[in-house]
Amino acid sequence: MYDVMIIGAGPGGIYSAYELVMKRPDLKIAVIEAGHTLEKRKCPIDGKKIKTCINCPTCSIMNGFGGAGAFSDGKYNITNDFGGTLYEYIGREKALSLMHYVDEINVSYGGGGTQMYSTAGTALKKKCMTNGLQLLEASVRHLGTDINYVVLENLYACLRDKVDFFFDTRVEELIKTDSGFAAHAGGKGQEKVFEASQCIVSAGRSGSKWLEKVCRDLNLKTRSNRVDIGVRVELPAAIFSEITDELYEGKIVYRTRKFEDNVRTFCMNPRGIVVNENTNGIITVNGHSFEDESRKTNNTNFALLVAKHFSEPFKDSNGYGESIARLSNMLGGGVIVQRFGDLERGRRSTPKRILEGMVQPTLKATPGDLSLVLPKRILDGIIEMIYALDRIAPGTANDDTLLYGVEVKFYNMEVELNEHLETAHKGLYMIGDGSGVTHSLSHASASGVYVADRIAETFGRA
Ligand SMILES: Cc1cc2nc3c(=O)[nH]c(=O)nc-3n(C[C@H](O)[C@H](O)[C@H](O)COP(=O)(O)OP(=O)(O)OC[C@H]3O[C@@H](n4cnc5c(N)ncnc54)[C@H](O)[C@@H]3O)c2cc1C
Repeated sequence: MYDVMIIGAGPGGIYSAYELVMKRPDLKIAVIEAGHTLEKRKCPIDGKKIKTCINCPTCSIMNGFGGAGAFSDGKYNITNDFGGTLYEYIGREKALSLMHYVDEINVSYGGGGTQMYSTAGTALKKKCMTNGLQLLEASVRHLGTDINYVVLENLYACLRDKVDFFFDTRVEELIKTDSGFAAHAGGKGQEKVFEASQCIVSAGRSGSKWLEKVCRDLNLKTRSNRVDIGVRVELPAAIFSEITDELYEGKIVYRTRKFEDNVRTFCMNPRGIVVNENTNGIITVNGHSFEDESRKTNNTNFALLVAKHFSEPFKDSNGYGESIARLSNMLGGGVIVQRFGDLERGRRSTPKRILEGMVQPTLKATPGDLSLVLPKRILDGIIEMIYALDRIAPGTANDDTLLYGVEVKFYNMEVELNEHLETAHKGLYMIGDGSGVTHSLSHASASGVYVADRIAETFGRA
């Protein structure tokens, strides 16, 4: 029996645990995590013996201490403009102050030497505006994949003697009991039951299917109507250096002339690499970059995403995104790569054309034709945006610019929560990406701190 159990050890779960330990060291806290400890998280793809995803029972990229963020680029954006809608629940000022608080912790646990970038006062804003683009406001701490890992190591070292961690322990069922909640975990013959009066669920995107079941079992209201679909663009770092040198990451939005859809840049990785991402067995694309100079490449990558909102009666927006990603997996055996020039000429890219191009891909993907995968409306939006970006970063629309597909940003269904991020069941909180409230490291972490403060207060009153 615990005072608080936290399901999921991603940023949301870690920061809940951290804040609870700081505020109420007397509480008995359990963190239950389906994946491995940080040091055991190793993706088996080595590029030689194992070249593609072999669908491990728990994915080392998405699951384990650090969650989906463990091998991420570690960009902590401090803004209400993107990364989630936490401010709708807790107010803009509170949300920003918690994101700054998380930043202070990151800095004191190993992120001290890293840089904070900001859009404040940048001339790029005007340049974007005069070219039909909008630059969103943010400050961003770029930890980089390497320092992000160090911060996680240090946070774990701080927490491991104060919190009971249960790794490789997947919660199968969450039940409401008379005294709180019971989490049933583990496979046949290895069942474990954890009980606590307060429960924080921070299961992230990888826990989305399980969370749907939890909401059904506990009669919690949800809604889901959005998915973002697009490609990852890779080009010579010099083309985007004016943006990335000043801001590290520019969040730029473009409204297409043809369909009036919003296309946005997402997850910019200056001098980084393009990587595979596995979501529920479907291979999509993502990107990383490193703080360490020796690991930097000559290419910059970023995603171009089109948000697709569905209206009644269609409800399965993630299913729609999955079907498109599956189509690319069917045609390419995984991720497809295509030169922008080939896409414009209506022909597939071939290994020869990619090899002869001036941009050498940092991800081994199958040369192919993205027009066979992406719906016309989405593809037209992406092409329009590439030409718009070419006006502020000349060379973006070069023939050799590489497009990897597909990149899909799945949104968890939104669970009905009150202003404390508490569900209809008192003492059951849902935070982070799993709740549908956040979609980023900083927002997920901030939501963890917020709920932990509330729980610490609740126990204080008891
Ligand atoms: C490759 C990559 C790069 C990214 N880069 C950035 C970036 O630079 N900046 C940014 O802001 N965001 C980035 N993101 C997104 C960011 O990682 C997430 O927004 C963030 O990790 C969400 O935190 P979370 O705690 O809500 O969920 P997660 O980090 O997904 O953690 C959830 C945890 O819950 C566990 N879990 C799930 N179900 C169960 C269960 N039933 N029982 C027990 N445990 C369970 C999972 O194993 C997982 O470890 C990136 C994501 C990826 C995949």
